[in-house]
Amino acid sequence: MGIEQALIPSPETWLARERPDEPVFFFCPQRLGDVAGRFLDGFPGVVSYAVKANPLPEMIEGLWRAGLRVFDVASPAEMALVRAQCPEAVLHYHNPVRSQAEVSAGLAHRCVSWSVDRMSELEKLAALPAGTEIAVRLKLPVAGAAYDFGAKFGAEPAGAVTLLRRVAEMGLTPSLTFHPGTQCRGAEPWARYIHAAAGVARDAGVTLHRLNVGGGFPSDRGEGEPDLETIFATIGRATREAFPRPPDLVCEPGRGLCAEAFLLALKVKAVEAEALFVNDGIYGSMAEWRDLGMAGRVRVVDPAGRRRGGRAQPRIVFGPTCDSLDRLPEPMALPAAIEEGDFVICEGMGAYSRALVTGFNGYGARRVVRMSAAC
Ligand SMILES: *Cc1c(COP(=O)(O)O)cnc(C)c1O
Repeated sequence: MGIEQALIPSPETWLARERPDEPVFFFCPQRLGDVAGRFLDGFPGVVSYAVKANPLPEMIEGLWRAGLRVFDVASPAEMALVRAQCPEAVLHYHNPVRSQAEVSAGLAHRCVSWSVDRMSELEKLAALPAGTEIAVRLKLPVAGAAYDFGAKFGAEPAGAVTLLRRVAEMGLTPSLTFHPGTQCRGAEPWARYIHAAAGVARDAGVTLHRLNVGGGFPSDRGEGEPDLETIFATIGRATREAFPRPPDLVCEPGRGLCAEAFLLALKVKAVEAEALFVNDGIYGSMAEWRDLGMAGRVRVVDPAGRRRGGRAQPRIVFGPTCDSLDRLPEPMALPAAIEEGDFVICEGMGAYSRALVTGFNGYGARRVVRMSAAC
């Protein structure tokens, strides 16, 4: 389903008019522009967007319009998607394990940077044009992230040294990359990784072309607005301290760029004393709440769009499918007076939400309404 345009500045007004029975995302181009501006102005290097966090064409196009030119893609489908929206985009192919057919797709789509984390995968890249950037993906024991991104991909420092040397031997251009883990609230994981990366480059005897500091930039999941500027400053400082000749920096945020640009409205299907049924859940746009916990920026409005206030009461929240696992991981404190037909509006819902909707049992949020102004 394509995006719908609305000339209404608030989700409340639209909900009161349309009374949708299905869950609806609201896309706020202005919020996207604001957060993209913070990254593009504040990050001391190139900003790329990790497409998997939210691959909606409106997201890609909105970032392009904001001035972002580099996209981190993980599959041929993501390459085609970005190329269709922005033919001139610069593509980084940072999924370190690829089939032969995927290597060919990456070449056909003119990907300019490729990550690797093991020798067998590096050898598959021998046919890349001489001088192509290869970013060796480093991993360290995790600390500070909402969950561990090193559990699947990444070479430990000794392995990364061997890989960097081999990249240089093959006539390719050596860089390093890492992902500190998603939703890092503080800057420490980046500082630690940057110092470790400098050690790896030194041990390999290789001058890095670039250092890609990954994603992991936080969104506001109810703890308050993230301090991106302190994270950017820490990354810049740590790089200057750690490297005798600091490499150019790249970052590839997913969540940090897209979360704030979308709100989600759920409709209340039934209310009981201790529980509530809503029209989307963990098989839909709240899939990641099982892993990351509840996101706390929620308000409730009645069918006329008026805010429900009053005393809050925690209730178990069930999703719409017939699976008993389909419930949110913790009770939600919502107004005690909540009624069937009310809407629960969740803020900051752009990341790993629409992208993870399964369609199980015929449910899941697909509809997207674009707001005309800040919402
Ligand atoms: C998922 C992913 C990202 C984005 O991570 P966020 O935590 O959403 O910022 C960046 N780089 C790579 C290689 C990824 O797989």
